[in-house]
Amino acid sequence: MSQYLFDPPAVVTVPVEGQSALFPVRRILCVGRNYAAHRREMGGDDRDPPFFFAKPADAIVASGRDVAYPPRTSNLHHEIELVVALKAGGKDIPVDKALDLVLGYAVGVDMTRRDLQNAARDKGQPWDASKGFDASAPISAIRPWTGAPPQGRINLSVNGQPRQDATVADMIWATAEIISEASKLWTLAPGDLIYTGTPEGVGPLVRGDKVAGEVEGVGSLAFTVV
Ligand code: MN
Repeated sequence: MSQYLFDPPAVVTVPVEGQSALFPVRRILCVGRNYAAHRREMGGDDRDPPFFFAKPADAIVASGRDVAYPPRTSNLHHEIELVVALKAGGKDIPVDKALDLVLGYAVGVDMTRRDLQNAARDKGQPWDASKGFDASAPISAIRPWTGAPPQGRINLSVNGQPRQDATVADMIWATAEIISEASKLWTLAPGDLIYTGTPEGVGPLVRGDKVAGEVEGVGSLAFTVV
């Protein structure tokens, strides 16, 4: 048995509805600008191809847990997103086989230090500090799912006030296409989560805000920024 210099990090997990066994998170991929109206509000061109970035697994925060306001930002944004949880992997997965990899779906928020993201974009620098920071990936429980992916309403409110309200069916790249594209860039594996992009209406959060998000048929999450 191997020995380690210090205790290895704990396995990050997400609960699965109806099961006592937990989903162990391997890594988190995220899709940028996957709804046309959000792409426009971010100053993008509708013809840009979607792209991926990543968050570390330990950015996960279970629904109901407080989310600490992160350092080095004065413009923390919420991005409500449908999350795909994979039970299988592979590479170069064709679109018509991609949904076979899906264990289920969850509701996530891609927390973003927008000021750092804008600065990085202006300087052509990487996004890691703006996207992959501590506690940047709140998530609901995973709902097991087979067949056609969620297509319904996706919405987020802050202190009871609606901020984002859209339809998953309006994603530019559909769930199966996202999985297939990701598998061309990385070898996917069980435990991978994919945040599929946010619709329009992103905006700032401050300490004390109560955030509630929902994807129709998938579930809901809630947290307080502290
Ligand atoms: Mn996002």
